Amino acid sequence: MSPIDKDGMLIDSRVLLRRSASIEHGELSGVRAIVVHQTDSSSAQATLNGYQNGGNGAHFLIDKNGQIFQTASLLKRCYHVGRLIKSKCLAIDKSKCDSATMAKVLAMTWVKQIAEIDALERAKSYPDRYPVNSDSVGIELVGQHIDDDNYEAVTAPQNTSLQWLASELYTHFSLKARDVYRHPEVSYKNPGEASTARWQ
Ligand SMILES: [Zn+2]
Repeated sequence: MSPIDKDGMLIDSRVLLRRSASIEHGELSGVRAIVVHQTDSSSAQATLNGYQNGGNGAHFLIDKNGQIFQTASLLKRCYHVGRLIKSKCLAIDKSKCDSATMAKVLAMTWVKQIAEIDALERAKSYPDRYPVNSDSVGIELVGQHIDDDNYEAVTAPQNTSLQWLASELYTHFSLKARDVYRHPEVSYKNPGEASTARWQ
């Protein structure tokens, strides 16, 4: 296992440290899960440049050649999940949903429904709900959006690096492969994002 230093940076020859404090938003008090993304950028450099301007970002970035960059401290929160999370019980095991409440929510208009689901979910804690920014690490893989349903394929070197990085994070934060999610599972995104990412 490679060490994480006092600033929350993973120290290993495989990781280039390119921290952008401007994408860090407060403390990350515990890591319960990992969310895997694709950047919709043409290159790692384009994403690194964008991170200089702050806003949304993730903790790690993996280039198409497999090079890993750490872009934010593991002690800091990044905005990578998005504002509205989906219902985990509805997606995975409907018997775990409160059926009366869910019937009311599902009768609402879409805009009201997704806001209400988000509020209900955030009252739960992980793993009863999907991860949120305050309890997860984000990993971005360089890759572009193709159309409404697809992203370009994750490369083999990206998946090799993702597997190594995930195994490091499992050890540091006592996670398992089931604690890794593709972004569209967690929130309302292009279903193709990270669909070809493999971490086990
Ligand atoms: Zn994403």
